[in-house]
Amino acid sequence: MPAKFLPDLDLTQRMPELNPPNPPSIDTIPLDRCWCGSDSFQPFNDDYRICERCGTLLCRFKPSEGDLGGSDDGDLYSKEYWLAHQTEGLHQPTVVERARSDLSERCLYWLRTLLKYKQPPARVLEIGCAHGGFVATMKAAGFDAEGVELSPWVIDFAKRTFDINVLQGPLDTSSVAPGSLDVIALFDVLEHLTDPSVAINEYRQLLKPDGILLIQTPCWRPNQTYEEMLSNKAPFLHQLMPLEHLFLFTEASVVEFLTGCGFAHIAFEPALFSIYDMFLIASPAQLRPAETEAIERAVNDAASTKLIIPMLDLYAREEALSKERLMLLDQHFETVKVMTKLEADAKNIIDAFFAKDNELRLKDEELRLKEVELQARYEDARARDLQLRSKDEELRSKQQVISEVNRVNEELTVNLQEALHPTPKKVVTMGKHVIKYGILSRLRMVRAKISWRRHL
Ligand SMILES: [Zn+2]
Repeated sequence: MPAKFLPDLDLTQRMPELNPPNPPSIDTIPLDRCWCGSDSFQPFNDDYRICERCGTLLCRFKPSEGDLGGSDDGDLYSKEYWLAHQTEGLHQPTVVERARSDLSERCLYWLRTLLKYKQPPARVLEIGCAHGGFVATMKAAGFDAEGVELSPWVIDFAKRTFDINVLQGPLDTSSVAPGSLDVIALFDVLEHLTDPSVAINEYRQLLKPDGILLIQTPCWRPNQTYEEMLSNKAPFLHQLMPLEHLFLFTEASVVEFLTGCGFAHIAFEPALFSIYDMFLIASPAQLRPAETEAIERAVNDAASTKLIIPMLDLYAREEALSKERLMLLDQHFETVKVMTKLEADAKNIIDAFFAKDNELRLKDEELRLKEVELQARYEDARARDLQLRSKDEELRSKQQVISEVNRVNEELTVNLQEALHPTPKKVVTMGKHVIKYGILSRLRMVRAKISWRRHL
């Protein structure tokens, strides 16, 4: 086997819920041939292989027929299977709790689809009816319904809980008249059958020519390797239950399988858990879905109580609310996603703003320091300017003094020249001045004498 199909993974540690506890010590035999007859397989994991011809996922081993059920002492589908194995192994509620919770959930979901294809009065056998809740629901809707189970304990529990008839399995098909059943329901059963071809062919003999099979079974979608499923935590991993789930069909392989068993007409309906299940109706005859009015009329005519239609109404309302809730949750998650992105964008913008602000502050500080430096330089230049002005002023006044001195010198020089070399005109002028000043002096003296005498 190629190494990539034997990963060194500790499933118990990584996904402990995937490993149900070991079933009771039962005899196993290799499952070395697919329902389609092929014995060519591709490896998948340690417990399963893929049929190369039809694509069905097969368990490598199956329990021996004698250990399947019929007693509660060590058989695979015994009392233990319905109690401890459900809680500890599959993390599901026990069959006792499910006897209540399934009635308002999957039983109504299944009934609605059953009514679409077959209306009461009609005879139904549910193979693997567990607590019997669906048999009771069908009876309430007017069907003549019975169940089949393997564990004597769960048969007794179903009878006591719902007052229904449950046959001991494995079903002795000779105990049911051929062509007497309108419906055989197999919910989470097909994948458990050790030889599905034998079983389904026998069931077809029990159905009327237009009878139907109602099947819910895991839907194997072979688009991922086991390793990819592990890394994606694929919900389908929970359907890998060695020795319990023996044949995991694809949509194509289940069609091929049922067609080969004489069910030429097949319709897929939405599965309740569509993420890992499929839900289908198969018949040898043409399927004729009924209108709502015909369904309600048939139920109200056949049912002993008038509770079923209002319960289906209630279920439809609850389903619509659930869908709306899921839609709102999707919108909420979308809003949260957008908000988270906006928050991240806003944080980036704020971070960028603060980074820019810091940068500007640093530049501002740098500019302030430069301004202080320039101011100091300016003060220094101003002081120097004042100093130069003062020196300039000093020089100017010195220059003035020098100019005055030069002017006086020049004047003196001229006067001296004139004194040394007087012209006749100047001599006359000077004479005139002398005479004038002499006469004036004489007059001032006379006036002074007159004034003095008067005073005496
Ligand atoms: Zn096959």
